[in-house]
Amino acid sequence: MSIQTIENRACVAFGIKDVRHVTQPLAYSPEEQVLVKVSRGGICGSDIHYYQHARAGMSILKNPLVLGHEFIGVVEAAPAGSHLTAGQRVAINPSQPCNRCPLCLEGKQNLCRGMKFMGSAQFNPHVDGGFRQYVAVTEQQCVPYAEHAKDNVMVFAEPLAVAIHAVRQAGDLVGKKVLVTGSGPIGCLVMAAARSAGAAEVVATDMSPRCRELALQMSADRAVDPTDEAVTAAWGEDGGYFDVSFEASGAPAAIASTATFTRPKGTVVQLGMGHATVEMPLGLLLVKEVKVVGSFRFVDEFNTAVRWLESGRIDPLPLLSAEFEQTQVVEALEMAGDKRRAAKVQLVFA
Ligand SMILES: [Zn+2]
Ligand SMILES: [Zn+2]
Repeated sequence: MSIQTIENRACVAFGIKDVRHVTQPLAYSPEEQVLVKVSRGGICGSDIHYYQHARAGMSILKNPLVLGHEFIGVVEAAPAGSHLTAGQRVAINPSQPCNRCPLCLEGKQNLCRGMKFMGSAQFNPHVDGGFRQYVAVTEQQCVPYAEHAKDNVMVFAEPLAVAIHAVRQAGDLVGKKVLVTGSGPIGCLVMAAARSAGAAEVVATDMSPRCRELALQMSADRAVDPTDEAVTAAWGEDGGYFDVSFEASGAPAAIASTATFTRPKGTVVQLGMGHATVEMPLGLLLVKEVKVVGSFRFVDEFNTAVRWLESGRIDPLPLLSAEFEQTQVVEALEMAGDKRRAAKVQLVFA
């Protein structure tokens, strides 16, 4: 196996408020890996957390980490015998499951304990992400898409995959009344995916008027301030109004409210990652037989997300607030971290 090294520029997190655009050579195996020239990346909550706090949830930054798990690019070189060809545009699935453990063999690769998820400090050594000029990935990680599709749309494949997985966790949504608490990018993509999956009514909540406006643009029928009790009181009457609640904020009050607003035999899907421990009215869940399920990343929904974006079935562009050159990664992270100004911020790579 030969190893080749090329010059590369990368957006690297070194510590709290210390992200730098640096030269960092890339070593890869041309016989086994696909070399992709990255064209665009989307900044996600975890990238912002690594920048602001040097940690994201339970993943703590111990060594420098190339940020980014939402990115697309163009195939520069593929190994002999690969189905990919140079010049092909591809969305990159950042998941690298071990494909050997019992969970992987059961098709639950998102839960693999040996998962090497790109741009994550979940395990040590960390797995570098895609915010760099070039990445080396496996052929299975590359999902080609049509020429007509726009890059600023296709880079939403990863967060949309998260949303589609959450919708799947809820089961059949046809004709259902759906609540989504939290109207950030993931919440809004869940609204669009739930609508696409046949939900009859989609209601969003968020404290921010700007986020509520985005929810309406992303196909919510109504967007409500959760502190507006004149409206929300009715959702708790008769045991609860919604068949399915997706909790995408991670806020303790929102999490607890799903127990009240979800009707008996309904389902709560938890996506928001906030405090590790929150209070949940268990008695209410018990007497209503409400099912609470977690939703973590995605499996084959990544391919579905690419197809839904490519075909225009879901238009994520209302969520795109701004784009920056890769050298302006700090400005981009600052803006993405300011929820009053931005939903999704993208980086453009040269
Ligand atoms: Zn993400
Ligand atoms: Zn595995």
